[in-house]
Amino acid sequence: MNKVLLRVLGSAQDAGLPHPNCYCDNCKRAMDDPKFKRTAASLAIILPEEKRWHLIDATPDMKEQMIALQRAHNLEGQVMNSVFLTHAHIGHYPGLMFLGKESMNTKQVPVYTGSLMQTMLETHAPWSQLTGLENILLKEIAHDIPVHLEEGVDITPVEVPHRNEFSETFGFCIEGPTKKVLYIPDIDSWDKWEQRIEEVCEKVDICLLDATFFSSSDLAHLGDRDLSEIPHPMITNTMDRLQHLTDTCAIYFTHFNHSNPALHQDGVTRKLIESNGFFLADDGLEFVL
Ligand SMILES: [Zn+2]
Ligand SMILES: [Zn+2]
Ligand SMILES: [Zn+2]
Repeated sequence: MNKVLLRVLGSAQDAGLPHPNCYCDNCKRAMDDPKFKRTAASLAIILPEEKRWHLIDATPDMKEQMIALQRAHNLEGQVMNSVFLTHAHIGHYPGLMFLGKESMNTKQVPVYTGSLMQTMLETHAPWSQLTGLENILLKEIAHDIPVHLEEGVDITPVEVPHRNEFSETFGFCIEGPTKKVLYIPDIDSWDKWEQRIEEVCEKVDICLLDATFFSSSDLAHLGDRDLSEIPHPMITNTMDRLQHLTDTCAIYFTHFNHSNPALHQDGVTRKLIESNGFFLADDGLEFVL
């Protein structure tokens, strides 16, 4: 069986790090030193020997994410073989624009999405041009129905609760020849989900989970907003729930908001997370699947 890799293309919340119009310490540091930049959360499944790769979420940073991936794996000139989309928020699908006529002008790249997102892409400009000109071919996915991606690689959508203004929201369970990975970059809360994260986590080898905020104190700048309305689980809460699983599952955090103290220069919060047995996903991190 040939090698299959999973690459973290990006690990920031939708707007990336630096965040537009923000001059917080994390953002200023990322402006001054490109090593600290983070692009919007996205993954790629790569089969380097076959020269094939698949994209999970097409972010506004897709152009630079593609360059990094292609140059790391001798895939220069090789367009992605398919795209899977989690949902219709701005960090997760606008990269599709680079498949269109003004850019790569791809031919019939399969794009797997839920039915609401399909309708949006088919009926609203500028996305409707991609389907009209067959730069992309939409393929419908649904909760718990696996898609066979490559020999030995299957991907199963897992529907999750999230602010679904324009589309449903999926996470993905990616099963490779040797490892199973759960990817949930956006979810409103573990409690609102009909599945128990502890049980799902027990069945996989690696998790990459929504870590937009670290704790309620990140949100101090939001004033007196009701914390129950903040639509992401806190890292502190996720660590409490999954602490007992860190010996059997490698649990990574991703989708960091620019303000997240896990990204602070002093490294104190990052060390705390790591001393609890959890990991931070960084752009360019790769796993053998
Ligand atoms: Zn997001
Ligand atoms: Zn900032
Ligand atoms: Zn979202």
